[in-house]
Amino acid sequence: MDLWYTENHTDSVKFSLKVKKQLFSGISEFQELDIMDTYEYGKLMTLDGLVMLTEKDEFVYHDMIVHVAMAVNPEIKKVLVIGGGDGGTVRECMKYSNIEHVSMVEIDKLVVDASREYFPTTSCELDNPKVTVLYEDGIKFIEDKRDLYDLILIDSTDPIGPGEGLFTTSFYQNCFNALTSKGILINQNETPIYEKFFEVGISSYKKLKKMFPIVKVYQANIPTYPGGYWLFNFASKEYHPTEHLNEVEWNDLKIKTKYYNTDLHRGCFALPTYVKEKINNESV
Ligand code: SAM
Repeated sequence: MDLWYTENHTDSVKFSLKVKKQLFSGISEFQELDIMDTYEYGKLMTLDGLVMLTEKDEFVYHDMIVHVAMAVNPEIKKVLVIGGGDGGTVRECMKYSNIEHVSMVEIDKLVVDASREYFPTTSCELDNPKVTVLYEDGIKFIEDKRDLYDLILIDSTDPIGPGEGLFTTSFYQNCFNALTSKGILINQNETPIYEKFFEVGISSYKKLKKMFPIVKVYQANIPTYPGGYWLFNFASKEYHPTEHLNEVEWNDLKIKTKYYNTDLHRGCFALPTYVKEKINNESV
């Protein structure tokens, strides 16, 4: 009998992957974690039944959450990753010798342990001496931080369960305070294809707009995420994501990427009309 993993993207849209084998299943105090080997996408990690990453397309998400900001301010030295237990975001950060330190604040040790065992290609830099892994709630961790980080990357689950508080105004305000004067924050902004996801995204966009002078939305194609079309927020205290793109300097760094490049950088902020209209209408 064929084994299939299925995620309901909406009440009338299902996304399924044919599964070779269930490799791991565990429950922590925060969530349920499953790892399966699939025919088309290699290993798949789910949390509470939702896709977190697959071996085949994780490079898109991890390239786009890190390199867009790094190409705008290659001087970034201190980075905070909230969530990101699979290690893919830290892996991309460690490609920059300029980055002096990355703190990864992950609430669930089970995710990190399982990623070390089943996703060595994403967790490969978690033992880098420049990296500190803290098993804490990011919402609490950030409360007393001031003027510390040049870049904050919110690599979280969706706003349900432990991730809910990572989409609130008070959390974003604490992030704003924790950033240096030229600080940048990147978070995922869900998909505009399905209303329930878009509402989450637009609400976080509007909250960020209340405190950051510059907030721009950019896009990426992530096949295993709802709609296959995903958005991110670029929230910045000073740098504009396209006007301040350091194309020559970034290309001179010779950073190896599989999705991101500086041409795509310009394009990813050029949103389709329906998305621009949705964001503008909602932002009024
Ligand atoms: N790229 C994935 C996505 O977009 O769905 C996210 C990957 S990463 C595995 C998400 C991580 O956020 C999980 O490991 C989860 O445990 C962590 N997380 C959720 N809420 C958190 C919180 N309040 N503080 C720190 N980490 C949290």
